[in-house]
Amino acid sequence: MHAYQVFSPAPIESHPLQPVDMPLPEPGPNQARLRVLVCGVCHTDLHIVEGDITAPRYPLTPGHQVVGKVDALGPSLSAAQPKQIQIQQRVGLPWLHWACGQCEFCQRGLENLCPQARFTGFSVNGGFAQYVLAETSYLLPLPDEIPDEQAAPLLCAGIVGYRALKKAEIQPGERVGLFGFGASAHLCLQVLRYWGCEVYVFSRSPSHRQHALALGAVQAVEPGNNPVLLDKAVVFAPAGQVVIQALEAIRPGGIVSINAIHMSDIPAFPYAKLWGERQLRSVANATYQDGEEFLALAVAANLRATVNLYPFSQANAALEDLKYSRFDGQAVLRVS
Ligand SMILES: [Zn+2]
Ligand SMILES: [Zn+2]
Repeated sequence: MHAYQVFSPAPIESHPLQPVDMPLPEPGPNQARLRVLVCGVCHTDLHIVEGDITAPRYPLTPGHQVVGKVDALGPSLSAAQPKQIQIQQRVGLPWLHWACGQCEFCQRGLENLCPQARFTGFSVNGGFAQYVLAETSYLLPLPDEIPDEQAAPLLCAGIVGYRALKKAEIQPGERVGLFGFGASAHLCLQVLRYWGCEVYVFSRSPSHRQHALALGAVQAVEPGNNPVLLDKAVVFAPAGQVVIQALEAIRPGGIVSINAIHMSDIPAFPYAKLWGERQLRSVANATYQDGEEFLALAVAANLRATVNLYPFSQANAALEDLKYSRFDGQAVLRVS
């Protein structure tokens, strides 16, 4: 099978993803093999390929927003599977690939924090390939209403964004600021509007600000220009300075949640900016339940991702375009 692998992290301009021929992977116990239809391209993939985040293994196939059809099943050893996965079923393989189920975090329903968790396209090979292995208990059955290329962005940008909204404890009708406006934010905006919130978008990109207005943001401005006092804010931009701008924009008692796996240092700031029971929270990965809840919400709220389709052979180009914000919304590779 064909796959794109990174052997050694390097700037995307040097095309670190290399086409390789690999043997078809064989599913082990409790695993499924998926024939990949499409795979979303996430900022985390860029961080892994460029080495901002070091994966535990190279060479590595990135890609963790995989829409595929189950093509083979390994022997089923565990009786406690949340969903019965069938051959030919269309499923989503998200970032959380596997968690131990035994540790204190898993026992509390926080498997996103499991110290032994494995992540798709990071600890194990991901979906920039014609076939990929998955643990059946972590596969998300996809609603029929959602086409392949629309489903891919939901699997990380959507689900992790949804967790960030939960962490910000958004209430209906609140004024919410989104700092940075890429794949995750453009889906969060639609969820917030479905919840009756007023959404204010902060982005340095004129194109992303236009995109936000077209999707129903009340205002879209440059960061630092704060039109109103916000109840809540979500930071998507991986720049520590933006966290402070978000804190400055919320009311006492407000919450800023940070939806970023990698971020530059947050500069020192006076305690007065946090004073007044403002809260700052990070968001790490997502749970299986987040995935189930969000896919149901995506159907109910009729979410529409802005998708930029790339042929499989253009994996490097898709990541480079992402790096330079050359498109709105989400890049998706059509694999087969
Ligand atoms: Zn991601
Ligand atoms: Zn665990």
